[in-house]
Amino acid sequence: MSTPIYNFSAGPATLPEDVLKQAQAELLDYQGTGFSVMTMSHRSDLFMDIMQRAENSLRQLMNIPNNYKVLFLQGGASAQFNMLSLNLAQGFKTINSVVTGNWSLMANNEMGKLVDAKIHVAAHAGELYNYNNLPSPSAWQLDESAAYTHYTSNETVHGLQYQALPTAALTNTPLVCDMSSDIISRPVNVNDFGVIYAGAQKNIGPAGTTIVIIREDLLERSSPLVPSVWNYKSHVDKEGMYNTPATYPVYIAGLVFDWLIQQGGVSAIEAKNNEKAAQLYAYIDSSDGYYKNTIDAAVRSKMNVIFHTASAERDAQFAKEADQAGLKLLKGYKSMGGMRASIYNAMPLAGVEALIKFMDEFKARNA
Ligand code: PMP
Repeated sequence: MSTPIYNFSAGPATLPEDVLKQAQAELLDYQGTGFSVMTMSHRSDLFMDIMQRAENSLRQLMNIPNNYKVLFLQGGASAQFNMLSLNLAQGFKTINSVVTGNWSLMANNEMGKLVDAKIHVAAHAGELYNYNNLPSPSAWQLDESAAYTHYTSNETVHGLQYQALPTAALTNTPLVCDMSSDIISRPVNVNDFGVIYAGAQKNIGPAGTTIVIIREDLLERSSPLVPSVWNYKSHVDKEGMYNTPATYPVYIAGLVFDWLIQQGGVSAIEAKNNEKAAQLYAYIDSSDGYYKNTIDAAVRSKMNVIFHTASAERDAQFAKEADQAGLKLLKGYKSMGGMRASIYNAMPLAGVEALIKFMDEFKARNA
């Protein structure tokens, strides 16, 4: 038997094997239609049904209330940084921004463009903790007259994650959350948010579609001056068909949602995610300093586990040898160095166990 391959990519990331097998089986002939999902008109009943079912499954998984709209947009999570402010900040003087790592900093630097509202940094984990800890929501210095409060629940690059999310009671401003790298990995209360958005390519499916879950009343804020393709309202008014959605990624996302429902939903996967992360961090912490993760234990990400050895050379050797052993794409983000093991929903516990075994052998060989 060949050695199993485990893919630790941060995104696009590993997908459930059952989903890929189903997609393969249906690639040329979708459910007896004689043609592929890829070649269907997005306005055909067939595809509209695929998209509606994907939305329904996501609604079921996240328990999304009826006063929230669900959109499958293009442009990635990055496009949302600007779409959010263009749509939600008209007529406001400020936007609250919580900086906790690479991605929220990107949002921070983008959200003030083309709008009058100025960015108000409510907390900055880099300045406060050198990204080794997170400012607790109760310590965010919020401007209560701001258009909204933006934060990122899981920092994919820095390996930090809010383990307890702020509730709506924290502020009068709508909470807007970039959940790109931990959506559907644990239960959240959608009612706490004005907007949740997430690029698909971690826990949801292939790159190309971005989920936006937006509270209905916020749609009234956007002005007709916002270009239509960037206007949430045009997408909602046309039921997601304002322009061509990324049809194939939406189809795969639907399969992933159904896979997750079969796994028992987000509470069940959360228990598995907790176990995977607990084992990996426990090993790192028990490695006598051979592997290091300096993040405060209370905010370590359960999705992206970063670690490094004593030198950049050793890290490079680790990533190379791990790759040869079937443990793929462990090299850390370019600005961070070290390693990053992304262990999203679709990573089985066996993958984490294989990684720990390899880490231990590597340590024994190179200590
Ligand atoms: N936010 C987070 C938390 C991310 O991890 C990423 C991508 N890694 C982005 C935003 C940007 O996503 P995209 O490349 O889809 O624009």
